Amino acid sequence: MRKSVVAIVGRPNVGKSTIFNRLVGERISIVEDTPGVTRDRIYAEAEWLTTTFNVIDTGGIELSDEPLLVQMRQQAEVAINESDVIVFLLNGREGITAADEEVAKILYKSNKPVVIGINKIDNPEMRDHIYEYYALGFGEPHPISGAHGLGLGDLLDTVVGYFPEMDDQDPDEDTIYFSLIGRPNVGKSSLVNSLLNEERVIVSEQEGTTRDAIDTHLNKDDQEFVIIDTAGMRKRGKVYEATEKYSVLRALKAIERSDVVLVLLDAETGIREQDKKIAGYAHDAGRGIIIVVNKWDTVDANEKTMKEFEDKVRKQFQYLDYAPIVFLSAKTKKRMHTLIPAIKTASENHTKRVPTNVLNDVIMDALAMNPTPTLKGKRLKVLYATQVAVKPPSFVVFVNDPDLMHFSYSRFLENRIRDAFGFIGTPIKIFARKRQ
Ligand code: GDP
Ligand code: GDP
Repeated sequence: MRKSVVAIVGRPNVGKSTIFNRLVGERISIVEDTPGVTRDRIYAEAEWLTTTFNVIDTGGIELSDEPLLVQMRQQAEVAINESDVIVFLLNGREGITAADEEVAKILYKSNKPVVIGINKIDNPEMRDHIYEYYALGFGEPHPISGAHGLGLGDLLDTVVGYFPEMDDQDPDEDTIYFSLIGRPNVGKSSLVNSLLNEERVIVSEQEGTTRDAIDTHLNKDDQEFVIIDTAGMRKRGKVYEATEKYSVLRALKAIERSDVVLVLLDAETGIREQDKKIAGYAHDAGRGIIIVVNKWDTVDANEKTMKEFEDKVRKQFQYLDYAPIVFLSAKTKKRMHTLIPAIKTASENHTKRVPTNVLNDVIMDALAMNPTPTLKGKRLKVLYATQVAVKPPSFVVFVNDPDLMHFSYSRFLENRIRDAFGFIGTPIKIFARKRQ
């Protein structure tokens, strides 16, 4: 189901990323410490009371070297296009500046709800500073302190109050939602077209729940699919749409609604740095993943070249060792038939539940095979494990002391679970908890 999106706009240094980090918090787990995936976050999930929503830090979207006023205008446009509610952040110690007024002008013209946060009001005495901000015309200014975490509750109450009714019913459980991501020109649009033009595919296109994605329904082999297509949306011709961070934002939004993400690579040009970054986003999001090597027609295709390319992919994307690799050509349709079955398998595994007793048999065998590690003379004791979630499959392992669960041991258990249950195409998560 689509979540509401909140964008934070404001001049540099007013505290956007401080507030963003406060809202988003940190979700730490053993698996997410996986080396190799770093990212500067500009889009993430947040929670207030019983509502989950997504937040964009527009400050994280570098919008060229234009003068400040131009950048502010572009940021405001991103916020207007991508969010349901805008938090306009100002610095309570500086008053209203010309750049603030510029942003206000653009925000007026949109019909998006705007909530103003006056940041850096670190103590009650400073609250008098907020009155002048009524002049902006967006209603009550909310005094906050990102640094001290003050006033955010009141601000969020107002923000949540503006969330639109989400009347798009929960997506059909049996439908597989997937998206295609990859750098420009890897063949995303071509692959979508090729899928849709295949025989025996029933296609119905409808405007997506958000303005920025076209959801295309298709039925193949008695399975309903929805393609969340972002590639077709690119050509709206605004300046900021050319920026990399902006296309990343688009990709993140599509990934979020997907069960399975196809990470496209280009066999002709080979693997680039940007590919790794893009794949990292899908991995971090915990979605099913398939690596699609497109333009396979440009390669002298045989067993040997396939093996060589596969080795390269495995080396460059070590954290995606669970993702199957599909070689195909969107253009000639060579090997296209291998794609849909791979998507189905990844989705099945992404939602798979394993019985607790079998899981524990696997864990006990693993313990017998590879004794638990010790730290400062203390040995890790594993008591039992249970699957706590799907999408992706997540397991809690109850132990005597979670600090003793070294990353490498967690990784070992993960591999044993994979060997036993075959979670091809999906990440799995393992959390160590202290048994009460
Ligand atoms: P951004 O450029 O809008 O993302 O701003 P940042 O979040 O990077 O913050 C800019 C500076 O303001 C940093 O030095 C922060 O530590 C500081 N800052 C952020 N929030 C507060 C606050 O509530 N009070 C004070 N005193 N400083 C803050
Ligand atoms: P996008 O930017 O990722 O959506 O990529 P496009 O679908 O627009 O494709 C970029 C270019 O690659 C176009 O010129 C396509 O014709 C070409 N292309 C896409 N798929 C294939 C393929 O399988 N083989 C070859 N040779 N070219 C392809």
